Amino acid sequence: MTQPRLILILADQLSPANPALVLADKARDVILLAEVAEEAHYVRHNRHKIVLLFSAMRHFAKDLERDGFSVQYLSFDRGVASLEDACRVALDATGCGELLVCEPGEYRLASAMATWSGELAVPVQILEDRRFLASHDQFQQWAAGRKQLRMEYFYRDMRRQYGVLLDGAEPCGGKWNYDSENRVGWRGQCEIPERPDLVPDAITSEVIALVERGFPSNPGDLTQFRLAVTRDDAQAQFDWFCNYALANFGTYQDALVEESPWVFHSLISMYLNCGLLEPLAVCQQVEQAWRDERCSLAAAEGFIRQILGWREYVRGIYWLLMPEYATRNTFDARRPLPDFFWTGNTDLRCLEQAIKQSLDLGYAHHIQRLMVIGNFALLAGLDVEAVCAWYLAVYVDAYEWVELPNTAGMALHADNGAMASKPYAASGKYIQKQGNHCKSCRFNPAKTTGEGACPFNSLYWHFIDRHADYLGGNARMGLILANWRKRDAADKASIRDWADAFLAAL
Ligand SMILES: Cc1cc2nc3c(=O)[nH]c(=O)nc-3n(C[C@H](O)[C@H](O)[C@H](O)COP(=O)(O)OP(=O)(O)OC[C@H]3O[C@@H](n4cnc5c(N)ncnc54)[C@H](O)[C@@H]3O)c2cc1C
Repeated sequence: MTQPRLILILADQLSPANPALVLADKARDVILLAEVAEEAHYVRHNRHKIVLLFSAMRHFAKDLERDGFSVQYLSFDRGVASLEDACRVALDATGCGELLVCEPGEYRLASAMATWSGELAVPVQILEDRRFLASHDQFQQWAAGRKQLRMEYFYRDMRRQYGVLLDGAEPCGGKWNYDSENRVGWRGQCEIPERPDLVPDAITSEVIALVERGFPSNPGDLTQFRLAVTRDDAQAQFDWFCNYALANFGTYQDALVEESPWVFHSLISMYLNCGLLEPLAVCQQVEQAWRDERCSLAAAEGFIRQILGWREYVRGIYWLLMPEYATRNTFDARRPLPDFFWTGNTDLRCLEQAIKQSLDLGYAHHIQRLMVIGNFALLAGLDVEAVCAWYLAVYVDAYEWVELPNTAGMALHADNGAMASKPYAASGKYIQKQGNHCKSCRFNPAKTTGEGACPFNSLYWHFIDRHADYLGGNARMGLILANWRKRDAADKASIRDWADAFLAAL
């Protein structure tokens, strides 16, 4: 018989579409899943993320065994240091003569894997991750020769390629993008449905106990753990979204809501990113919901754009520009992260809610990440590397391929505009317009300086002022710069002083 092969499956590759698994031969190959220290500790991951991945891996391994695969499972208490060590242990134990693995999502691990063949003394086949809808080559070809990489054009190509929301060659409804209908602020217009409760099963409960013991100082309140850890449960959560939240998704996509951490968002990034849901299937399910008249075209298009557009686009940017991308810092932002990033204890109500739920649940929706926490970090000039490390640590869905372009690129504009055509900088008035946090905040978004002034306002002008030269080169910032420049000198000086005092107190 031909020598068996070892098939390594990483924690974020728990999908039957994993190309290494697709090639696996039940009769001879051995599947390896390993909970290893290096992956669990390379940042201070949210405990929800560790529980999700360990429990999903354990469930996935059981399903594979039930399907007739031979599985080696190295659990965390075995104390295996790294994935390379796990392969070594499994190669020794099984006598496999070759290693197959799907390419990892992160540059860090891809660099390590490139040395494995020599270190492990067996051939290592690293297979392209076809669960993504745009390959590295495809993105490179799309990017080649373009002066600017803009998501919108990439997204249109993806719609055409996958035949999503098309009438023949034309976009359904005649427009590619319905974003202008998707920016309504929250004024309590309708009921936000309760999310269904998901009680942890025995495997998850055991993992929760392990993570409570092994990761006592990581963020994450595990009494609130309600994530799905199997494909069926992740699909059930997505079905719930399609039935009860999708219809309002588009309208309130950008809303900031005091009463709910989730609003009408789907909460599926953590499942897409670890393989429990597949990106094309969820887009097709949402298209079908629109065709069945269960949601508007704006809701369906707004949702599909996030996955077929943004998700693929950020991955493309990451692999196109790494490793240099991780070192960019356009505004030379170096201010240390304030302590409240690790406690949520701040008087700014919007920040308090967004940070506390990020720490406790490992979740914040896009506008909280971008326009509340990210906007604050941008305006305050917080250290880019520290902010990125924070985002990578706190969110359940965080992997560098998606976190870095979103944080360094979209939120902090540290990538010199590779991701976004202008900085996403906004004052307190934007936050007030989008939701109801300001009502329960001690700061007043109508004031820029003086007692009770919302710090986002003076910080906003401080940012415009200190980066006026850079922003002057961007046509989309012209009006704002002109507004700042025509203010009288005393007014400008008092705004600068007010912001400086706030920053000094951070
Ligand atoms: C500073 C910052 C950091 C972020 N870090 C991450 C991260 O580590 N991991 C991550 O998956 N997403 C990240 N995002 C993108 C986005 O905020 C999350 O995907 C989304 O909030 C997840 O919640 P949801 O599943 O309820 O999404 P929904 O609002 O319901 O959107 C549906 C899906 O679209 C995809 N999506 C939406 N926007 C983006 C985007 N900008 N980039 C990639 N995919 C997107 C996600 O898969 C998401 O599940 C980040 C955004 C910002 C601004």
